[in-house]
Amino acid sequence: MITKQIVLASRPIGMPVLANFRFENSELPSLQDGQLLLKGLYYSVDPYLRGRMNDAKSYVTPFQVGKPIEGSVIARVIESKSGSFAKNELVMGMLPWSRECIVEGKGLQKIDPNDPHVSYHLGILGMTGLTAYFGLLDIGKPKSAETVVVSGAAGAVGMVVGQIAKIKGCHVTGIAGSDEKVKLLKEEFGFDGAVNYKQTADIETAIAELCPDGVDIYFDNVGGEISDAVIANVNKGARIIICGEISSYNETGATVGPRPQSVLLRKCALMQGFLVSNYSARFPEGILQLSEWLKAGKLNYKETISKGFESLPEAFISLFEGRNTGKMLVEIE
Ligand code: NAP
Repeated sequence: MITKQIVLASRPIGMPVLANFRFENSELPSLQDGQLLLKGLYYSVDPYLRGRMNDAKSYVTPFQVGKPIEGSVIARVIESKSGSFAKNELVMGMLPWSRECIVEGKGLQKIDPNDPHVSYHLGILGMTGLTAYFGLLDIGKPKSAETVVVSGAAGAVGMVVGQIAKIKGCHVTGIAGSDEKVKLLKEEFGFDGAVNYKQTADIETAIAELCPDGVDIYFDNVGGEISDAVIANVNKGARIIICGEISSYNETGATVGPRPQSVLLRKCALMQGFLVSNYSARFPEGILQLSEWLKAGKLNYKETISKGFESLPEAFISLFEGRNTGKMLVEIE
């Protein structure tokens, strides 16, 4: 069987471009005992994949030039020679960007094929929802009436963070990259305030105005100057949660900014980075709570779904241009 896959053609320098990806036909071997033939349905595109495109040591191994990109995928079992999986079951796992693939089944998680929102398992009931849940609750420890600021607020992680903070009774301000996103956060996601950082010359003053009691918790998805501006507004005992630094993922040199130690010292504040994988033993607890909030209508959710396997590279690049609102996915018909 011939399938189509997407390989890393070259490592990006700065912003990724389509030429960094190459579509290739590949012949799949015949299925062996214990193996499954899978066909991809939903492919998650995530900012951290950018780090894996560099030839640099990190918490995940770099992609190899000429080899397929891989990411989280929900796929259907087309053929099975494994006792653990049956034809037509749905599974989720780290899989290659390939229309079809053959795997051993290790590390795959089954998804109920009758679930009306199968794709949510790549977002609010998956990695990005859990990142918001554990980062905010475990490190931020929000208390009622505290002020929470979240950057990347209209993205997959950010919009869940803001809503959980509202459930916990906090005053919530979001930072996002367009007037439409600002409107959406306030009108459909219950944020108390939001600011379009692309149209705001002085973000530090804008945050001070939107957060008159100062900032108790800052959930940082973007880093850079936006975070410098928020950190300048933190209160005594603030918690600064370092989740992501997307503004620097395409930087080619070292970034220079205000050093935060003096604020952390004066404000007796905590700044802590985390990886969602630290919490893998507690994922069932997080998924259960997020599902309950969803069912109770306490969480709203949004996806940006791009159609067709060919759109995968473009969908990935669009994350760095803010073209997504909520979780960015690619759906294969
Ligand atoms: P996302 O927010 O859905 O998508 C990325 C968003 O980042 C874009 O929509 C864009 O929105 C914003 N952005 C892009 N370039 C930017 C820049 N230069 N400055 C400011 N904002 C920029 O992505 P996500 O999956 O939810 O991830 C959000 C962050 O969390 C990322 O940094 C990611 O790496 C991190 N993350 C960390 C963990 C962990 O375990 N620590 C797990 C998952 C994700 P605008 O229109 O607002 O610019």
